Amino acid sequence: MAPAKSLRAVVSGSAELLLDRHSPVTFSRYVGPGMTRILVIEDEADIRQVLEYNLRNAGYDVTGVERGREGLRLVREERPDLVLLDLMLPDIPGTEICRAIKDEPSTRALPVVMLTARAEEIDRVVGFEIGADDYITKPFSVRELVLRIRAVLRRGESRPIEGSMVEFGSLRCDRDAHRVWVNEEEVELTALEFKLLVTLYDRRNRVQSRGALLDQVWGMDTKISTRTVDAHVKRLREKLGAARDYIETVRGVGYRFAEEPIAVAS
Ligand code: CA
Repeated sequence: MAPAKSLRAVVSGSAELLLDRHSPVTFSRYVGPGMTRILVIEDEADIRQVLEYNLRNAGYDVTGVERGREGLRLVREERPDLVLLDLMLPDIPGTEICRAIKDEPSTRALPVVMLTARAEEIDRVVGFEIGADDYITKPFSVRELVLRIRAVLRRGESRPIEGSMVEFGSLRCDRDAHRVWVNEEEVELTALEFKLLVTLYDRRNRVQSRGALLDQVWGMDTKISTRTVDAHVKRLREKLGAARDYIETVRGVGYRFAEEPIAVAS
């Protein structure tokens, strides 16, 4: 074993990588309280070791397993904070594991970052379709990997910040000032679009029917049709750009604001 190095020395010298939420790290398998736990499911031993080594040095509590079945068991029993999941595993395909995690209500908020040697765009699409939160292709740079994992973990933190400010993934909203930003860029919304966004946001993870939205946003006595709701949601999504997918369509019913910030195209 090489001697423990500082985080700065290990991951390409970017100050950004000094994760202030975590204590300084060493090689030891010290598991501090409150450390972010990452489960690595990867059958190739050398890659798994590189991942474990670098993620530990980035301040994470890392457990690596070789097989999908074992990984899925740990997901259910240990509740890690993030799963780094190889696509090609000897027993269960990574896509199936991701689907299982995302299908189960108790684990669906768990961020999954998929790893694969296949760089084709189709794989990327498949990854997002099954609900993966991000996708990293091999060979990967350790620096990029750590940054992406950190970004995915941050997206999962939805926190109200002082007063009227709300932050949800890439979306930031000042309720009092009626201002909205996506990835720090201000988005111009009409008063109605703003109200629609806030109405959906306040009822996160609950389906809102078109009728209910009409009542809440437009008011009861309106003569407009529910198609107007669709048109406004469409326009709102267009304006939200990278944050558009936070508003989910529930087929045949209406709309729902995501429970947690999900992966958005970057
Ligand atoms: Ca593999």
